[in-house]
Amino acid sequence: MNQSYDVIVIGGGPGGYLAAERLAEAGRSVLLAEERALGGTCLNVGCIPTKALLNSAKTYAHARQSAQFGIEADNVRYDWGQVQAWKDDVVRRLVAGVTATERRLGVTVVAGHADLIGPGQVEVDGQRLTCHDVIVATGSVPAMAPIPGAADNPAVVDSTGLLAIGAVPARLAVIGGGVIGLEFASVFASFGTQVDVVELLPEVLPMLDHDLAHLMRRGMPDIGFHLGSTVRSIEAATVRFADATGQAGAVEADVVLMAVGRRPLLDGWGAQAAGLALARTGVVVDDRCATNLPGVWAVGDVTGRSQLAHGAYRMAEIVAAHIIDPAAARRQGQVFRAQTVPWAIYTAPEAAGVGLTQAQAEAQGRQVVAATVPLALSGRFVAENDRRTPGAVKVVADQESRQLLGVQMVGPSAPETIWGAAACLEAELSVDDVRQLVFPHPSLSEGIREAVWALN
Ligand SMILES: Cc1cc2nc3c(=O)[nH]c(=O)nc-3n(C[C@H](O)[C@H](O)[C@H](O)COP(=O)(O)OP(=O)(O)OC[C@H]3O[C@@H](n4cnc5c(N)ncnc54)[C@H](O)[C@@H]3O)c2cc1C
Repeated sequence: MNQSYDVIVIGGGPGGYLAAERLAEAGRSVLLAEERALGGTCLNVGCIPTKALLNSAKTYAHARQSAQFGIEADNVRYDWGQVQAWKDDVVRRLVAGVTATERRLGVTVVAGHADLIGPGQVEVDGQRLTCHDVIVATGSVPAMAPIPGAADNPAVVDSTGLLAIGAVPARLAVIGGGVIGLEFASVFASFGTQVDVVELLPEVLPMLDHDLAHLMRRGMPDIGFHLGSTVRSIEAATVRFADATGQAGAVEADVVLMAVGRRPLLDGWGAQAAGLALARTGVVVDDRCATNLPGVWAVGDVTGRSQLAHGAYRMAEIVAAHIIDPAAARRQGQVFRAQTVPWAIYTAPEAAGVGLTQAQAEAQGRQVVAATVPLALSGRFVAENDRRTPGAVKVVADQESRQLLGVQMVGPSAPETIWGAAACLEAELSVDDVRQLVFPHPSLSEGIREAVWALN
């Protein structure tokens, strides 16, 4: 480890490791400090291991339902030890890939704790280093709701705890009907666990309009949903709540997943002492991801502007562009546009979206037009899915300008398809522009085309 670098990056998740790669590619000397595991939350305990578990769950469900497609599979069983081994191997291979890339590009990766001292000054495991720029990418940690009986309760786990569980529980209570809660609910329901989701809001997945969120719930008939319900206490593994009418209810479980969101990691690395401007939601940044301190940038979950790995990637690239050539970055308009970052959920059924929902657009006072079409309009969807699989696409556009404002999709491959809709929003295409695009046939993406043609 040298004493001085062009750039020091604090945190080796998607935001940190991609920033380091882009800067090293441009010839900058970069030190990346990671105190736990390179790859961060995403590779080690987030996006990737959950997708490995979901893939095993979907494969199991598909094998059991294959007779209708003319495939007989007898005695279909799962081996949880192998499910876990597959997940761990996927993580190991991807972390090894990032480690090799950093090494190839000449990034100095240090396994240690970093503290921000001030502009151009960082301490790594107590050793003072200097640099031109600092990138803070410390990420986020699971939030714990202050529910009586939750703290120090061995039955209550967060997402990291549930990922590593040694056996499939008979009963699982999930507190929180957001993306993380529902992905785990989907995994364990597929493996035969009795799953109950308790959600404070009147509907799950607040990034969807209620009609599509309702469709998602209909697609998960094995999961019990308790909506508009406030958890009052947890006793052993029993979750006690008051429902929307104030009526007392309870879910008896073996394991309770606390999935009430994540909070930016703002403590323990010197942010306050260094004078960094902080809000409750995260490190305060402008649209270039610059903080209030000169030469100090922040990217990813710690900014609170995105809680998605690809949001962190985009911020990393923006910061790298502004460090490498600020004038060119300004010319190119390298700024973070949260409204064109797509989101995705990999449950069965899957869903994805980008931009505004109809409810969000109307809450902004916009006059909008919206259309929802069933995916049954797609020949591929009909050919590949049983009749109970839900699928729909909803598009929202500004009534006057006809500009596309948002797209929501429920159905298989929605996460693979949504980038096309995000590109349309990024390019500020109108409904008439999108009507001129050609979609492959038969494909699920044709649902977007059908929905756009269904708009008044
Ligand atoms: C269960 C789960 C599933 C998810 N699924 C998806 C998904 O499918 N798609 C998606 O886009 N997103 C998903 N996410 C969110 C995604 O993981 C995060 O948005 C992403 O990891 C954020 O990247 P980051 O670089 O900001 O932070 P992180 O990935 O959290 O990385 C921050 C790193 O900084 C390190 N660090 C912190 N402080 C210090 C310090 N002082 N010194 C040294 N190192 C430090 C930490 O150890 C950590 O490794 C999921 C999250 C969870 C929990």
